[in-house]
Amino acid sequence: MSQPMLTADTDPHRLARTLGGRNLVGGELRPSHTGRTFAVFNPATGREIGQAAHSDAGDVDDAVAVAFRAQPAWAATAARKRGALVAECARLLASHVEELGRLVALETGKALRTESRVEASVVADALQFYGGLGSELKGETVPFNPDMLTLTQREPIGVVGVIIPWNAPMMLMALKIAPALVAGNTVVVKSAEEAPLAVLRVCQILNQLLPPGVLNIVSGFGPDCGAPLVAHPQVGKVTFTGSVETGRIVARTAGEKLIPVTLELGGKSPMIVMDDADLEQAVAGAVSGMRFTRQGQSCTAASRIFVHRAIHDEFVTRLKARVDAMKMGDPLDEATDIGTIISRGQLDKVLGYIESGRAIPGAQAHECSRLPDGEALRDGLFVRPVIFTGLDNASRLAREEIFGPVTCVIAFDRYEDAIRMANDSDYGLAATFWTRDLKTALDATRRLNAGFVQVNQNIVVQPGLSYGGVKQSGLGREASLEAMLDHFTHKKTVIFNMN
Ligand code: ADP
Repeated sequence: MSQPMLTADTDPHRLARTLGGRNLVGGELRPSHTGRTFAVFNPATGREIGQAAHSDAGDVDDAVAVAFRAQPAWAATAARKRGALVAECARLLASHVEELGRLVALETGKALRTESRVEASVVADALQFYGGLGSELKGETVPFNPDMLTLTQREPIGVVGVIIPWNAPMMLMALKIAPALVAGNTVVVKSAEEAPLAVLRVCQILNQLLPPGVLNIVSGFGPDCGAPLVAHPQVGKVTFTGSVETGRIVARTAGEKLIPVTLELGGKSPMIVMDDADLEQAVAGAVSGMRFTRQGQSCTAASRIFVHRAIHDEFVTRLKARVDAMKMGDPLDEATDIGTIISRGQLDKVLGYIESGRAIPGAQAHECSRLPDGEALRDGLFVRPVIFTGLDNASRLAREEIFGPVTCVIAFDRYEDAIRMANDSDYGLAATFWTRDLKTALDATRRLNAGFVQVNQNIVVQPGLSYGGVKQSGLGREASLEAMLDHFTHKKTVIFNMN
């Protein structure tokens, strides 16, 4: 293994300043062809921390051309060797966890201890997982005709366009680039405008080991930079995580081009708590499932919690007490549990939902925790977590994805009602069910209409487990071996006629 050229630097401010303003194409950091940049802000202070390249269709053309040229040699590298390189990347990244955790905390406002450092470790874990799967890119022999040898082989698609959001940018990028690369594709990533720095740093680190041009990243805005990437004639596959609205636009363009697309979109994930559930376990599951430590900015956030009426009040009291005990503050402070919302626009949207919820007759907004004190964080985008009670499943707050620290606890009387309400949603990403009765749990797992269903726990996406949604939550699966095979290769059938 070659020695890393970069020295470890865990000061995120310095890193943000020195990295900024460039794309990484062909193994080199380069400015956008116009030289334009845009500012990146620390949402905890409102201050600028650095710049990112403001890329347009010309930069996308350059990056795709480089990836296209690099692809044949990468595809011709033995699959296990590609995997071994990706696994080596995982080991290299593991030595940068602290630095990456701090950088992503600085640009996204996600608390270092509870979220950002964890995300940095998961990135290395995802690369490690896929690094071991090179030899799984197998084909089959088919008993088609005794006089013919018939077989299938897995081939890479070519250049993959990867479009990512800001909420877990490094992790979501890793779950896309790792299987794409191991399968023999080359990649152009378009980062999210709110969080372009940590992902650029990840790609810079990986480019110490990967051949130039295999992994490229450009920063810019959706219509200027994301749209040309999807539309580019040499991009043969797009994998996207983001909003339903943008997912539709991406799918439309991919449909015009007739290329495959993977879409991980929104969620309004239900959590059902039966009256026989272990209450303490379920309350802890609601805290982690709602991702209060990520300000609720998660597609799988347990944003609709259906609780049996017999335990509803006790559940709400305990949930509120737990969230009250969480500390809001500077994301880089080790004592902080809850950081900030990503941007002013998102903050206004979340506050708008809270206001509209308060105006609903019978609704109660239980505000939790405390805003941080101090001059330094005065302009920070902090929102106190809110638990709504007294809303029903038809309300806007229970139907639309808020992407903020707002959950609705809704009482139910009968199991059938809980299942019906849980499935009465435009989304179908994740669901959890809490009970001590395994027979009911089994029935619920069959009936809950979601891609990722858990009983008595609420963990996040894990390398090795297929992850993805039904209905408006998206198309396709990620994170697993099948995801690599189904979404980053095509199957070629080959027949040898022996006659
Ligand atoms: P969010 O509301 O979470 O920012 P978006 O779906 O708007 O979600 O953004 C997710 C990613 O999609 C970002 O990288 C964004 O720049 C990109 N994006 C936005 N609009 C487009 C578009 N028209 N085509 C391709 N990518 C886009």
